[in-house]
Formats: sequence, structure tokens, C-alpha cells
Amino acid sequence: MKTVLVIGSGIAGLSCAIECAMREMKVILVSPFPSERAQSVLAAGGINAVMSNCDPGDSIDSHIEDTLKGGRFIAGRNAVKGLCEDAPAVIDWLKNLGTVFTTEAGGNISHRAFGGQSYKRTCYCGSSTGKQIVTALVMEARRLEGKGLIKRRLWMDFHSALIKDGVCYGVLFYNEAAGDIEAIMADSVVVATGGQNALFGKTTGSTLCDGYVQGKLFMQGVELKNLEFIQYHPTTIETSQKRMLVSEAVRGEGGRLYYEENGKRIYFMEDMFGERGNLMPRDVVSRCMAGTGRDIFLDISFLGKEKILKKIPEVYELCMKYRGIDISKESIPVAPSIHFFMGGIAVNNSHETNIKNLYAIGECASIYHGANRLGGNSILAAIHGAKVAADAVAYAWEISEESDWETEIAKAKNELADLKSSESLFPVMYIRDMLAETMSANLGIVRDEGNLKKGIEDVAYYLSVVDRIRYDRSELTYYGYSLTGILTLAKAVLTCALFRKESRGAHYRSDYPEEEDSFLAATVISYDNGRFKTELDKEGKYES
Ligand SMILES: Cc1cc2nc3c(=O)[nH]c(=O)nc-3n(C[C@H](O)[C@H](O)[C@H](O)COP(=O)(O)OP(=O)(O)OC[C@H]3O[C@@H](n4cnc5c(N)ncnc54)[C@H](O)[C@@H]3O)c2cc1C
Repeated sequence: MKTVLVIGSGIAGLSCAIECAMREMKVILVSPFPSERAQSVLAAGGINAVMSNCDPGDSIDSHIEDTLKGGRFIAGRNAVKGLCEDAPAVIDWLKNLGTVFTTEAGGNISHRAFGGQSYKRTCYCGSSTGKQIVTALVMEARRLEGKGLIKRRLWMDFHSALIKDGVCYGVLFYNEAAGDIEAIMADSVVVATGGQNALFGKTTGSTLCDGYVQGKLFMQGVELKNLEFIQYHPTTIETSQKRMLVSEAVRGEGGRLYYEENGKRIYFMEDMFGERGNLMPRDVVSRCMAGTGRDIFLDISFLGKEKILKKIPEVYELCMKYRGIDISKESIPVAPSIHFFMGGIAVNNSHETNIKNLYAIGECASIYHGANRLGGNSILAAIHGAKVAADAVAYAWEISEESDWETEIAKAKNELADLKSSESLFPVMYIRDMLAETMSANLGIVRDEGNLKKGIEDVAYYLSVVDRIRYDRSELTYYGYSLTGILTLAKAVLTCALFRKESRGAHYRSDYPEEEDSFLAATVISYDNGRFKTELDKEGKYES
């Protein structure tokens, strides 16, 4: 029986574990925290699929075209086609596992409008879609665990992959409970470790997603893609811990953006783009908001409390709880903030990386969203990608070669011991905070050569002092050893943004404000002994 190691237990990891177990493979599902703490539970607004009760005129072709257009035509058509064609089956799969979708009177799943879509096609569970889906997936994973097909391992942090001659044989983890390094070998390894929020500090997402796995794999020879495309969500509000998302569902239900001038409301998105102006793709709305130079508000009060509580109850509760705003009576002060990472581990249409036996799915992988993701397409991509990867893994070769990894394991153990005992001027958390400041200051909605080069310089400096860091408390062990990987990823993100001398989707350069045909391809970045190589994937090595 084949063994599959799935790292990360959000929607992507859980889905892949279930799909692999269904195909009679033995699955080890590893994460530092229970699934209930994965960022996936935050997903609010919904998941896109053209169902049989879709809007008149809607079609799977329209879903494909909207997705390609939203991504400014650098996502591979075949991958996107597979995604959109599979979407109705994904919804059925979720329903069969017990996900409770919001339905119309006749029992059909309801749809709401989301940005950048020609028709209403976002299926949802109130405004807690992620929680409902994770709950259903966890139940199924437990059932399969009872059958001995899935083994869940908690408190395990990725350390490094065991790669030899371009083949991945397993992964080293830092076992928090044991305080030691542990190796898990597998026939295939699927990475599902989410986005890169901690690079930026306060975002709408979870700082548990810190990008370390992507950064470390990059340093081990795994190629990354489209890192410069970072989505700013237009409607977020400040809270003490993070930027809180005001779901796109609010605009989907008719919410209107405006600013005030001489006591009058200016509905600037509608003035610029007409009736559907508030539902333009997120990159467009965020840039327009920033361009006004004003305080922006979002009004949904006209819907009335009864409808608000029925359609978007969590948004009502969150605004009330964290900011004391009653959205049935007053407008919400909103501003754009980082929300999603279109870039990540480069994978082909089977979700395979450039390293054999190593796959990536969910938000840590880059495949379906091009230069900008449409709302509601991410959970879909996480589940569809998990199914595709499970298929690929099922047909992949079984590892027969016996390798001796004792040297690698001893090296990892020694490095940890050295780090723990090192004397230093730079506490690790201080550098993480500085990095977040650097990234937020230099990779904003609008970038230029000057601030990108400044960002690279700052990160290079942080990298130069990493050897002198100190973390003498055991709970900081992961923070200590992960720092180089995180900083290397940060430098790669800035390097890709400097490389793309045009504006496309979520990447806007004030010094190159136009979209250029010469850049109509994904960016691929690779690492060789500290050197970065950045190129456009014009040959379709990953995109097809
Ligand atoms: C507030 C909010 C609302 C959203 N709403 C929607 C929506 O309505 N519709 C939509 O389509 N998308 C939405 N998204 C995006 C979507 O939720 C995510 O892209 C998706 O859930 C990512 O799933 P994932 O499984 O790839 O990652 P995650 O859910 O982030 O899971 C990552 C897993 O990896 C583990 N992990 C992380 N680091 C390590 C490590 N070093 N070692 C081992 N394991 C590790 C984590 O513990 C976790 O288990 C929203 C995002 C946010 C932040």
C-alpha cells in the first residue's frame, strides 16, 4: 500500500487526505495545529460553481472566461478549464460529506454575486462557508482514521524535505511535543501549508501561514511562481490583532462603496464602472479606493436587519463584536489590506512540482489564479487541486530505493542545538516584526523600482544577521530555524516584483503602469546556492 504524506490540514490538506484514503492509500496528515485552527475556517463568502439552477445565460465557459480574465490571462487555460468543469462535482462532493449550504425555497443551493463574475454563481453557507466545510471534512477524516486509512499527527512543524537527485523521499519535522527532529518517509509528499501572511504581519489571514515551507523548499531547489501577485482585499477593517475581512458577500448582496464630499455621498465605483462597479475584481476596487485618497465607507444598511441577519449574519456579528458597528444602521469604514497570495510553489496541471514525488495544493501552490484571484475560486481550487493531486499520486511510482538519511537527520539536530545555544544581539521576533514592516512598506498596492530595491536591501540585511539570532525559549524553536526560509521567500517575492516591469492584475507598478504583451506569462523563480534566477514561463513549462 502506498504511503502519502500530506502536510497542512486546512481545506486543501483535508480534502487530499480524504481523496487519497478513498483511493486505498495510507495517509499521514501532519500539521502543527488542529484543522479547526487552519485559516480555512475564516473563509466566509462562498465557493464558485455553475450549478443546474444557475442564472439564465450562465455557463461553465463563462466561469472559465471570468477566471482567465480576472487573472489577466496568465493562468493556464487547461488548468482553469479543469477547475471550472469540476466545480459542480466539488459542490456535490461537499454536500455528500454533510456541508450544509444555504438553499432556496425549493431546496436548490442559493447563489450570490461575487466580484469579477458575469453571473451569480457563488454557493455559500451563510457567511461561514469555511467553517461549515472544515467541519464536514474533519468528520470524514475522522471516519477514515477509524478505518486506519488516515493517521493525523499534530504539533509537527515542517523542517526540511529529504530530497536527493531531484526526488523527494520524505520530510523532517520538528516534533514540538518531543522537542526533537522526526523523519517521516513517504512514497509521495503533498504540501498544503497555505499562504504567506506572516511576511506582512497584519493581514486578513492567519499568521500561522508564514511561508516558511515555500521558502525552505525554494532553498532546496523547488521552483516558485508568480510571487509578485499579492491580493489586496478592498474591504477590511482594523482590529487590534489583524485586519478583519468584511466579506465580498456584503457587496454581493448589494453593498455600496462611497466617500463623502461636502456632506454628499460619492459612489465612486458606480460612477466609474456603472451598476456593477462595486463588484469589479478586487485589484481594480482596491486601486480605485487608494486612488481617491479619501476615507471609504461601505453601506449595506438599506437591506434591513432581518435580511442582513439571514444573508450575512457573521458579518453583522463581527462588526458589532469587534468595532461596535451596527451595519443595519450605519456604514462600515473600510480600507484595502493583504488577503491572498496568487503566487507560491510552481506546479504543473497534475500539481507536481519540479521535484519528483513532491506535490503542492491549496493556497501555497500557484496555478489557477494568474495575476488576481476571483472571490470564491480559492476554496474551489483547494478542493479541486486536492482531487487532481490524489489522482496523480495514485498513479505515481512507488519508492523502492532504500536511502540512508541519518546524516541529514543528525545535521538538522546539530543545527538546532547550535541555534539554541547561540549568543546574539537580535531576538528572532524582532526580525519578524521588522520584516513585516519592510514588506508592507515596499510591496503596497502601488510599487516602483525605488521601494522594491529598498525592500530587497533591507531583507538582505536581515539575512546577514540571521546567524547571530538568539531564541532561548523552547517555544521559539520553530521561529528560530524558520527565519532564514521566511526571509529568503520575502527576498524572492520582492525580486519577482522588481522583475515584472509592467502592471498586471494585483501587481501595479507606478513606473510601468501599462500591461505589456511581452510579460504575458507567469514568472518562475529558482534558487542556486544563494543566487536567484527569474524568468517568464513563455514555453508553458507549468502553464498549459
Ligand atoms: C478572512 C478570509 C476569508 C476568505 N473567504 C474566502 C471565500 O469566501 N471563498 C474562497 O474561495 N476563499 C476565501 N478565502 C481564501 C481561502 O480561505 C484560503 O485560500 C483557503 O482556505 C486556503 O486553504 P489551504 O488548505 O490551502 O490553507 P490553510 O487553511 O491556510 O491551511 C494551511 C495548513 O498548513 C499548516 N501549516 C502552516 N505552516 C506549516 C508548517 N510550517 N508546518 C506544517 N504545517 C503547516 C497549517 O497549520 C494549516 O493546517 C478567505 C481567506 C480569508 C483570510
